[in-house]
Amino acid sequence: MDTTTHASPPAATGPLSLHGLSVEGVNQCVHCGLCLAYCPTFSELGTEMDSPRGRIFIIKSLAEGRMSLSDSTVRHLSLCLDCRACETVCPAGVPYGRLIEAAKAEIERDRPGTPGRRLFRWLNFGLLLGHPRLLGLAASGARFYQASGLQRLVRKTGLVRLLPGTLPAWEALLPPVPAKAERAAPPPLTPAEGPRRARVALLTGCVQSVIFGAHNRATARVLAKNGFEVVVPEGQGCCGALNAHGGDHERAVAMARQTIDAFEAARADAVVVNTSGCGAHMKAYGHLLADDRGYAERAARFAASVRDVAEILAQEPLRGPLSPVPLTCTYHDPCHVVHGQKIKSEPRKLLAQIPGLRVVELTESDWCCGSAGIYNLTEPEMATRLLHRKVSHVLATGAEAVVTANPGCILQIQAGLGAHQAAAIRVMHLVEILDRAYGAAGGGR
Ligand code: SF4
Ligand code: SF4
Repeated sequence: MDTTTHASPPAATGPLSLHGLSVEGVNQCVHCGLCLAYCPTFSELGTEMDSPRGRIFIIKSLAEGRMSLSDSTVRHLSLCLDCRACETVCPAGVPYGRLIEAAKAEIERDRPGTPGRRLFRWLNFGLLLGHPRLLGLAASGARFYQASGLQRLVRKTGLVRLLPGTLPAWEALLPPVPAKAERAAPPPLTPAEGPRRARVALLTGCVQSVIFGAHNRATARVLAKNGFEVVVPEGQGCCGALNAHGGDHERAVAMARQTIDAFEAARADAVVVNTSGCGAHMKAYGHLLADDRGYAERAARFAASVRDVAEILAQEPLRGPLSPVPLTCTYHDPCHVVHGQKIKSEPRKLLAQIPGLRVVELTESDWCCGSAGIYNLTEPEMATRLLHRKVSHVLATGAEAVVTANPGCILQIQAGLGAHQAAAIRVMHLVEILDRAYGAAGGGR
């Protein structure tokens, strides 16, 4: 493949694509502009090329060979959060998420960057995300770095600033890694309590499993309380969502195949996911593997079986007894739950059933908090603007806790509250608060 060219070959005829990834959906755009008012980057910058309509124009022009990947086009495309708020409001059904993922893959191919950047991406996307054991070792290393006081020393002495490239930014955002016991996965099988509703297979995830193992265990407990037998399939790893959002298409495809293999063996009625980006991505496996003769049918079947944890729990009223949770909270909709999976009422329905819990609606609850995968690392300035906007809305509610459903949002909002001297406001996963209502002390254990 020639990576030295700066423009896609002209595609005078045939379906529009960028290096084999279809962007035919650009033709569905009727340029009505309804999406503009819902786009966070357009709202902040006010420029057409930082709006969905502007980016669709760029992607179409690239695919038709009428425009090249200049610094400016790369900038406009890279600033997109892939939050998919534009998809939710688009009356023409433009599949914007697929378009921007194809565009980001094109940027990665055309501009792989310095050898250092390529090595860093390979270490993260290829090595760590692709190998759960190595990710576990890296988590242990990060835990030692934090718990031994080394992190404090490195920050205090300014040594951190000597790290190359974007490493200082990554270091600054390194979340507290819990001790190994706290990172434990749920048991391989959690039996259903009461009348059995179904057998479900739980995705434990990559980053989720090392930072928020407690959320996975809480998810298994809450599902079991509601009549689900929960199995944790062996051999599962990263679903590939971070790779796909970061433009690493080939590895995303390989991870999708591996995930399907692992979960099919569990013979479950549904696949349950408690991280929004993973759920939205796995629901799109059918599209991702549509041209793969060995996997296309299996991928479509698998995708149809994926359920967000709120989605599956809200199918029936929560089974009691539920203890009171005397708290005022507000709910932040993760983009890939509300826009990627169109799940909005279900989490609210579940929260409304918890006795003693008061839920206050959040202004712009479905606007991105700036986390967006690794966006807060690659585009820190815009991410910070959106985070301040989110935190100011949270503070206006007077809530004691923010409930959400995605590890990236939790870390981002926690960091934002800390920066506003409001770290006392707790940020919780939906399953933590449900688990607490079922008797777990202070949320997940
Ligand atoms: S995905 Fe989000 S940031 Fe990107 S164009 Fe759509 S609304 Fe704007
Ligand atoms: S709302 Fe849909 S059709 Fe209208 S400009 Fe935006 S993407 Fe195009």
